[in-house]
Amino acid sequence: MLTANRESPPAAVGRGGMKKELPEHFKDYRQVWVFIEMERGQVHPVSFELLGKGRELANKLGVELAGVMLGPPGEATRSAVAEAFAYGADLVYLVKAPLLTDYRNEPFTKAMTDLVNGYKPSILLLGATTLGRDLAGSVATTLLTGLTADCTELDVDSDGSLAATRPTFGGSLLCTIYTLNYRPQIATVRPRVMAMPPRTDKPVGLVIEHKLSIIEEEIITKILGFLPDGQSAKANLAYADVVVAGGLGLGAAENLQLVKNLARAIGAEYGCSRPLVQKGWMPPDRQIGQTGKTIRPKLYITAGISGAIQHRVGVEGADLIVAINTDPNAPIFDFAHLGIVADAIRFLPALTEAFTRRLSPHSRDKLAS
Ligand SMILES: Cc1cc2nc3c(=O)[nH]c(=O)nc-3n(C[C@H](O)[C@H](O)[C@H](O)COP(=O)(O)OP(=O)(O)OC[C@H]3O[C@@H](n4cnc5c(N)ncnc54)[C@H](O)[C@@H]3O)c2cc1C
Repeated sequence: MLTANRESPPAAVGRGGMKKELPEHFKDYRQVWVFIEMERGQVHPVSFELLGKGRELANKLGVELAGVMLGPPGEATRSAVAEAFAYGADLVYLVKAPLLTDYRNEPFTKAMTDLVNGYKPSILLLGATTLGRDLAGSVATTLLTGLTADCTELDVDSDGSLAATRPTFGGSLLCTIYTLNYRPQIATVRPRVMAMPPRTDKPVGLVIEHKLSIIEEEIITKILGFLPDGQSAKANLAYADVVVAGGLGLGAAENLQLVKNLARAIGAEYGCSRPLVQKGWMPPDRQIGQTGKTIRPKLYITAGISGAIQHRVGVEGADLIVAINTDPNAPIFDFAHLGIVADAIRFLPALTEAFTRRLSPHSRDKLAS
């Protein structure tokens, strides 16, 4: 399927057979940019994943890959810039100002749109995090250009335009979206959808500094303080190496304890399929899949999950998928590496006991590292 952001005039044939004619001034828009997201001094790893994908796109286009760093003066920003180079950026656009210490939409949108207007990237990628989604939407609307959210694949066509693929119709179809008449082409990608590139020993490169042209009095949003993280915010599924998840096949909320017990025994994070969140059996940040977290663990153990496409797209990056299901024809067995046809209510305690017997605390930590 092919969709276009805004009206679509014909000429060159793109993916899916749609004809495209790119305006002459698009030649002025060249580089691939990746927003380096930093919150409270920590760079979000999705920024490095996007630098990896951005490198591929930049190489195909024969252009430079740039990181965009917006942050306060100081060590955290300096080291975020160095990390951007270590993960493959050729150059970094930097806006450094105390107003950029904590994320607020107005100064970040101003900094980013000023950079885009000044240096004209062809492609701008942001993580589909809470911060990235907020920023991408306001940057795209301010610049009057297209934004394709939650992409699962990014590529460039023979004419150099970005082919941004994402699920549609409830995840049953994939569509490839082009921004035909406007630049830059903006896309967001959720954490863990793209692979983490190797880190190199190149923490230096060209830094182009730009001044922030907004003052505190022009910013409506004020930060009064930060609330401490609630318990459910502790879920770190996206970056966990071992994940155990339960589905509707567990039959009752109390049976989720079996999943949690196994997770504790092997030092894993635990999660669930969507219906369990809808039933209120688990908090939303434990949901795995298309509308939950995308995970890429070394080991993923599922119990009582059928393997619907919306769940599958969130777990396909796992190195080893072990599925426990009573139905030998369950779709999960189409993509699990190891299938166990068994009643999870009886199998999970036995598995937990076996792991507990065999794993010393030391080897448990090793499994999870
Ligand atoms: C727009 C949209 C977005 C969605 N996003 C997500 C998402 O992000 N994540 C997600 O997970 N789903 C998502 N869904 C829902 C998805 O389509 C499925 O409905 C859901 O994944 C099914 O959950 P489940 O596998 O737990 O339940 P079911 O499909 O009901 O499967 C239960 C499985 O348990 C097995 N079973 C039964 N008893 C036992 C037992 N005792 N031991 C072992 N196995 C047993 C059954 O054989 C069955 O295969 C989305 C749907 C839509 C339309």
